Amino acid sequence: MAKPNMNRYLRQSLDHIFQNNKKWVASKKQTDASFFDKLSAGQSPDYLYIGCSDSRVPANEIMGLEAGEVFVHRNIANLVPNVDLSAMSVINYAVRHLKVKHIIVCGHYNCGGVKAAMTPADLGLLNPWLRNIRDVYRLHEKELDAIPEEHARYNRLIELNVMESCRNIIKTAAVQKSYQENQYPIVHGWVFDLGDGELKDLKVDFEAELADVQKIYCLSPGSNSEN
Ligand SMILES: [Zn+2]
Repeated sequence: MAKPNMNRYLRQSLDHIFQNNKKWVASKKQTDASFFDKLSAGQSPDYLYIGCSDSRVPANEIMGLEAGEVFVHRNIANLVPNVDLSAMSVINYAVRHLKVKHIIVCGHYNCGGVKAAMTPADLGLLNPWLRNIRDVYRLHEKELDAIPEEHARYNRLIELNVMESCRNIIKTAAVQKSYQENQYPIVHGWVFDLGDGELKDLKVDFEAELADVQKIYCLSPGSNSEN
């Protein structure tokens, strides 16, 4: 019968992870005997990273950051919808309590979420989520339709989707008020290239984006962006 074999396989795969964990603990202690004492004491990361859930884009690893150095939120296609309680809670906690200095939205080329949003198909529960990406397409329809090659158009939509998430973060009161008071956080848009492992900086002009966003979405009266 196949079932006992399958059970053994499933148990083995988890055993492997626990063995990895023990090795990781040992290596951390070897490098820094007080590593876990420091982790237990609290966190004060400088970065909030918002990225895609895709298993090929491990946040800490691609940035070379250790446990405790980056606050992470991931979902399908790195979206920041304004009614998403999870994303909004993460941003508010990171900005108001952790006082992160940088917020990074990191998309990635070959994103299955963005690809799905370009496909005319009923994807059930994913429909309302991916609608956010279709909305990004609609906002930039002229530019995207002018790109003849499908893969290039797809990659550009991935970049524009990152930019839109950056703007959605800038629309929050937490970011606007903190920036007015402290001159941080700064919002950045990046794209990870699965083909070569490199991060591409989309060079978001934070000050300019903030001023532009606040023409309509100002939640921080008294900020100077209207001038
Ligand atoms: Zn993705």
